[in-house]
Formats: sequence, C-alpha cells, structure tokens
Amino acid sequence: MRTLLPFLRLFKHAKFVLFLGLILMITGLAASIGLLTVSGWFLAATALAGIGTLFNFFYPSASVRGLAIGRTVARYFEKIVTHDATFRILAKLRVQVFQKIIPLSPAVLNRYRNSDLLNRLVADVDTLDSLYLRLLAPFITAFVVIGLLTVGLSFFNLSLALFFATVLSTLALLVPTIFYYLGKTFGHKLTRARATYRTRFVEYIQSQAELLLFNAEKPLKQKLDETEQQWQGFQQKEANLSGFSTALMLLANGILLTLTLWFAANADFGNDRYSPAIIALFALAALAAFEILMPLGSAFLHIGQIIASAERVTEITEQTPLVQFSGEKTVEKHTALDLSIQQVNFTYPERQDPALENITLTIPQGQKVAILGKTGSGKSTLLQLLVRNYDPNQGNIFLAKQSIADYTERHLREQMCFLTQRVHVFSDTLRNNLQLANQHPLQDTTMIEVLNQVGLGKLVEQEQGLDLWLGDGGRPLSGGEQRRLSLARILLNQAPILLLDEPTEGLDRETERQILRLILTHCQNKTLIMVTHRLTAIEQFDHLCIIDEGKLIEQGNYQTLMAKENGFFKQLVERI
Ligand code: ATP
Ligand code: MG
Repeated sequence: MRTLLPFLRLFKHAKFVLFLGLILMITGLAASIGLLTVSGWFLAATALAGIGTLFNFFYPSASVRGLAIGRTVARYFEKIVTHDATFRILAKLRVQVFQKIIPLSPAVLNRYRNSDLLNRLVADVDTLDSLYLRLLAPFITAFVVIGLLTVGLSFFNLSLALFFATVLSTLALLVPTIFYYLGKTFGHKLTRARATYRTRFVEYIQSQAELLLFNAEKPLKQKLDETEQQWQGFQQKEANLSGFSTALMLLANGILLTLTLWFAANADFGNDRYSPAIIALFALAALAAFEILMPLGSAFLHIGQIIASAERVTEITEQTPLVQFSGEKTVEKHTALDLSIQQVNFTYPERQDPALENITLTIPQGQKVAILGKTGSGKSTLLQLLVRNYDPNQGNIFLAKQSIADYTERHLREQMCFLTQRVHVFSDTLRNNLQLANQHPLQDTTMIEVLNQVGLGKLVEQEQGLDLWLGDGGRPLSGGEQRRLSLARILLNQAPILLLDEPTEGLDRETERQILRLILTHCQNKTLIMVTHRLTAIEQFDHLCIIDEGKLIEQGNYQTLMAKENGFFKQLVERI
C-alpha cells in the first residue's frame, strides 16, 4: 500500500477539483437514496390516506422531483469533474515519469525493452486512474452517505437508524478488506501477464520480416498465444470474483431488508395515522443503501492491479541515473575548446573487464583526430565518455580546462555533435529528420543542398520533396542511404566539436572518398574525432590514435606512426 503514497501526493495538484468531485459524488448518491426512501414513504402514505382525505402531497412530490433532478445533475457534473481531475493528474504523472526516464538514457534504460517501457508509461499509468475514481472517492463517499442516512433515519427511529449504521459500516469495512486480499496476488499476476503479452506482441509485430525469413514465426506466435490465454485466465478470474462480490452484496441486501422489515414491524413510530408508511421508508432505505456498497467490492478487487502498476512505474522513477548533470558552468564564448582526457579508466556497469584503461589524450581545438583499432577495442566507448553517456570510473575529461561534469547538459550538448554507430531514422518526413540536427529552423534550399552534397538528391526529386515520409524507422532507405542521411544531419549542425563513429561504414570507396572530403571541409575550423576502420584519407588527419583492448597503444601523426618500426599502425597500412 505504501507504494501508492507518491501517487496520492499528486492529488495536491488538483485538490479543489477532487474535493468538488467528492461533494458531487456524495450529493448524487445521497439524492438517489433520498429519492427511493421518500418515494417509498410517499406511496405508502398515499395508500393509507385513501380517497377523500386531506393529504398534503405537495411537499413529498416536490421532494421527489427535486431529488430526481438533483441526482441527475449531480451525477452529470460528478462524471465531468472527477474525470477531468483524474486526467489532469495522469497527465502530470506521465510528464513526471517521462522526465525521470530521459536522464536514465542510455545506461540504465539499456536494461529495459522499449516495448516494456512504453507499456509502463501508457498502460500502467492508465491503471492508476482507478485510484481516485474507483477506490478513494467511492470509499469516502460511502462513509459520508452512511452518516447522512443514519442522521436522516434517526428522526424516525433512533435504534433502527443505529442498526442501519452498524450493518452498513461493518460491510463497508469488511467487503473492501475481503476483496483486497482476494485480488492482491492475482492482480499482480494479471498486470504482469498483460505487460508480457504487450511486450511480446510489439516485438512480434516489429520483427515480422526476420521471423518470416527464418521461418521462426510459429514458435513465437505460440508463446504469444500462451501469454494471451494466461492473461485471459486472470481476467476471467477477476470477472468471476467481481460477480461473486455482486452476489454477496445482493444476499446481504436481502438479509438487511428482511431484518429491517422484521424490526420495523415491531418498532415504535408513534401513533400518527401515517406512521405505518415509515416501515416502507425503512424498507426502501435498506434497498437503496446498497447503492453505497455495490461498487466497493469490485473496486477493491482491482487494488492488486493498481499496486502492481504503481510498483512498475516506481521501479523506473526510482532508478538513479548513472550520469547526473548537476554542473552549472556554461561555455564562455571565444574560449579555446581544447579537449583533454586524463588517465581515464572505465568499465561498463554490468561487466567485469575494463573497456578503457589509463587513457590520456589531448586534443586542441580544431585538431582532426582519427581513432583506429580492432573491433571491440573500446573506440565507441571513448566517444560515449566524451558526451557523458557514461562517466569514467577513474580519471577525468576536460573541455576548455573545465571538467565536462561541471557544465550544464545543454551547454555540453551544444558543443558536440555525435554520430553514433547505429543511425536512428525517425518515422517522420525527410524534412523533420533533418531539422532535428539544428535548433534554428532550416531553409528548404539549405536542406536540399546538403542532401545533394551527400548524394541523396534523388530523394527530394520525388513528388513529395522534403515531405517524403521515411516510414518505419527508415526501413524504406538502404543502409548506405541511412548513413548518408545522418551525414546530412552533421553538415547541418553547427557544433564546434564533431564525434563521428564510423561515418563511412557501408559506403563504397568512391562515395566514401567524397563523403570524407565533405566532412573535412565542413570541419575546417572545427574539432573532429572520427572512429574508423578504413585508411582512406588517413594522412589528412593531424593525429592518429590506436586503441587495442582498451588501451591507447600508439598515437602521433601519420609520419611519426609510419616511422615506428613494428608499429601497429605501420603494420596495418602495410597489410592493407
Ligand atoms: P567496433 O569497432 O566493433 O565498433 P569498438 O572499438 O567501438 O568496436 P566498443 O563498442 O567501445 O568497441 O566496446 C568495447 C567493449 O565494451 C566491448 O567488449 C563491448 O562488448 C563492451 N561494450 C560496449 N557497449 C557496452 C554496453 N552498453 N554495455 C556493456 N558492455 C559494452
Ligand atoms: Mg564501435
């Protein structure tokens, strides 16, 4: 239950509306019970009065009308107000969760599957809407209305009214407790089954192409069906228990009605001519009172799911990011943006073997650096540390003589443009895929010019031009085209430091030469750090670094490294 506290705290953002919703809920329910009770008395009293007697039917009939209208109006506005409040709170919650998720990227989020994260953000947050609508509000309303009903009935007969209060309050406490315990364990299971099903389903859809190619669709579909059946099984159990709660309530209702008639028949209501009609009033009050209790059983049955969802959301929000951007420093204009890596050691959180060991490297502003090395040697890791996707375990990295940890996130990001090894193409238009490279709106002509430069001119020659839809993660583009699209992004970006992870991978030699020329021209006054496996135009770089098994084993310019007898780089050149 304690898991729900942080979510209850969110209620303070809509205090007034929530309170108003509660008042309306109480009014609606009280009016509904009042309507049935007064009608019961009215009908019985009219029958007793018979024909030809003077009977004031104005007050009761006006009450019946007033209560009927009051009930309708209160219910209408209650639905609007409570749902509005709930959606406001959910919107706030979603933003909060999202704000917590973003800084977890990429180190902590790597542990979760995308579809699982999406499920938590959407389905689990949605489940939490029941917290107020189905649990808290009806529970509070029940006790207030039981109080009001007791006070109202006590005017007719105090002991019968107290009997009512005792039975109803006991049921209002007992029923939620019973159904809370019944629903607790399978609520967790149901939530988990739903999450598994959705995660598997998204993966099943996303990997259709691969599944068909490898003829592996059947086993996955079978697994999916099993999870679905499990999920449906839990849903069926929930429906059964919910039906059981209704049946239990109807039984309790019948017992209360019988007992009320029994006691009321012998009770003292005075010697008024109409006093027997009060028996009808009590009997109908007993019938109506169950409107208070009916929703409680199935609502508390739901609590297991609410808690499970709350736990799943909390699990994400309570993760601490590996990298915290708490620095306040900004990058002064016109300072030399020299980079300096000092004795850096780094091991990935879930690994034992170090990815980088004792790396020391100085890169003055404007220098062009190429990083070479075998696959898995730690080249990409070094770039990850430079952009603070991870922080070194030992040592430090300085930019303009300040530790990069001292800068605000925005300032650090503005200084660097990072092309990762895997390009992400958004399911969006060509224009929007390019626009994200620059904070300022880009002219169409600028975009087209850059696309022509990287050899993607033919994309804009299509009928839709820059509005060409790039579809599901850029699938309609070839691998090389995706690579070139990412290069277009680089050319549109104005950051003074460029970190490129194998920008020419997958391109033919001729295109590679052309692209490298473009990059080097674009970087004339910028710092360029480029990871590469190829030696094309390597002599044009000012500084070459060779990384092997996480260590920087050679560095210097082309001539120095070529002059080194048995040097790693020299051997590499000779081999190729
Ligand atoms: P390649 O040329 O194949 O891109 P690389 O030199 O860029 O290789 P890195 O990606 O830096 O190599 O990886 C260095 C080591 O760190 C490898 O052993 C790799 O398995 C490991 N590694 C890389 N990324 C992660 C990660 N996110 N979590 C854990 N280990 C990782
Ligand atoms: Mg790499």
